[in-house]
Amino acid sequence: MTSLTPNKARANLESLYRIFTVPEAPDSTLGAIDQAISDDVTGFLQTHIVAIERNLEEIEANFSSSAIPEEPTYVSEYTEFVKENLVAHSVHTAAPGFVGHMTSALPYFMLPLARVMTALNQNLVKVETSKAFTPMERQVIAMLHHLVYRRDDDFYPSWIHNSQHALGAFCSGGTIANVTALWVARNRLFPPDGDFRGIAREGLARALKHSGYEGIAVLVSERGHYSFGKATDLLGIGRDHLIKVNTDENNRIDLKLLRLACRRLQDENIRPLALVGIAGTTETGNIDPLEAMADFAQEIDCHFHVDAAWGGPTLFSDRYRRLLAGIERADSVTIDAHKQLYVPMGAGMVVFKDPTALSAIEHHANYILRHGSKDLGSHTLEGSRPGMAMLVHAGLSIIGRKGYELLIDMGIERAQTFAAMIRQHPDFELTSKPELNILTYRYCPGAIQQILADATAEQAAVVNSLLDQVCQLLQKSQREAGRTFVSRTRLHTAGYAEELTVLRVVLANPLTTDEILASVLAEQCEIVQQPEIQALLRQIDEL
Ligand SMILES: *Cc1c(COP(=O)(O)O)cnc(C)c1O
Repeated sequence: MTSLTPNKARANLESLYRIFTVPEAPDSTLGAIDQAISDDVTGFLQTHIVAIERNLEEIEANFSSSAIPEEPTYVSEYTEFVKENLVAHSVHTAAPGFVGHMTSALPYFMLPLARVMTALNQNLVKVETSKAFTPMERQVIAMLHHLVYRRDDDFYPSWIHNSQHALGAFCSGGTIANVTALWVARNRLFPPDGDFRGIAREGLARALKHSGYEGIAVLVSERGHYSFGKATDLLGIGRDHLIKVNTDENNRIDLKLLRLACRRLQDENIRPLALVGIAGTTETGNIDPLEAMADFAQEIDCHFHVDAAWGGPTLFSDRYRRLLAGIERADSVTIDAHKQLYVPMGAGMVVFKDPTALSAIEHHANYILRHGSKDLGSHTLEGSRPGMAMLVHAGLSIIGRKGYELLIDMGIERAQTFAAMIRQHPDFELTSKPELNILTYRYCPGAIQQILADATAEQAAVVNSLLDQVCQLLQKSQREAGRTFVSRTRLHTAGYAEELTVLRVVLANPLTTDEILASVLAEQCEIVQQPEIQALLRQIDEL
């Protein structure tokens, strides 16, 4: 059996046994990568992710076979494949010039701790497969609950480790957190009542019949995250009953229109199930008037959910916490950990003001999740879950409230700096002022801004549609060049009747400097010299 090496998995038992027991040699391909990411993950990403974008069709060619490999292969051979075809053509989300999305650099300790997590391979669905991880996750949820609701210290001891209840649910991200919040709201709206055994047992059709409503609806501003569309579909509410209320010039829900929308629902005998306030919209980072929304939710007796997936950690900041005033009145709040808590992808949370709220979705099974157990799985949508809470616990412990405060303050202040740079630049137009650390802008030289100022609505529409094309080409070209990255979206902005294509910047990476931001604009000024873009700009001049 001399031909057997530890990294070779031949289809025989002895060899398979080795993959479970013998670690990869340090001088093997995988061992070397392992060492490299341990020594210097930043350096590893910089050297191994190639900057030039290969088009997706070319990459797809390496992933086109639907046949499961018949024969085992060498770990080293496979690792080579990963290096060349996955690592090399992945996206350098940690790069300080990657300011277009909500994914940023990670603190170095996340990587080795994530390995510890994987090595332990706990399953948080139940205590039997997670033991200490269950109280640890419950503590993390209590910490976030405290961040939002600031209940007295004597509130928590009776709830953190309560076998009947959970203060919130840990999940894979904001989407599941939002679904969970609306699921709870839905079930609480139709509890058991006399002969009716509750919506959880009898379903929505019977719940409506029992209550006499024609339907139920969720109200959120037009900036609401697309996860609410999924949630309303999934929960039987129907996407048409996700009412998207227009925003004011600051991308905040228009309260008059909200009131109007509710009246219209009433006329149709549709019951508002939940009102959703956003604390940090995904596209512009603005915050809804949470205090006023809490008042209104109270007035119409409806669940008030705040989607603070992005902006929640602003609560760490003494200076900016006030922006979220009113969040403590929400019945439920979503916070993503894989965004501004700087945890790797796959961690979100929802917390509930009422510590018994999650009972509305409680589920038990005989072999696990027994009544009276502390199993977290009885109060989560997901079943088996990894020990990700450990990484949130690590962040909260190592970075601490004050550390997160610095990160938050720095991001908001950098966004203000960048907004000032854009305002001062003759060729750019700021399309949404940063309230947190997100802003949007577009390429629109002073001369064209002047044309727009004097234009009729029809003329402006033509100019804007040409600028939309400029923006689109510009963003695409910058992404392909791979030096810096901003994203793009389409938005209604103050001053224009039509939606505009705008560039979107998210400033959460502490390694992003003002110089890098200046270079983003400089690169864009170079890109617009491309003939295709110049042709579009000439069309505007010739109008
Ligand atoms: C990111 C985000 C979500 C969705 O979270 P995922 O973690 O991507 O599922 C929901 N709402 C807001 C405001 C977000 O920014």
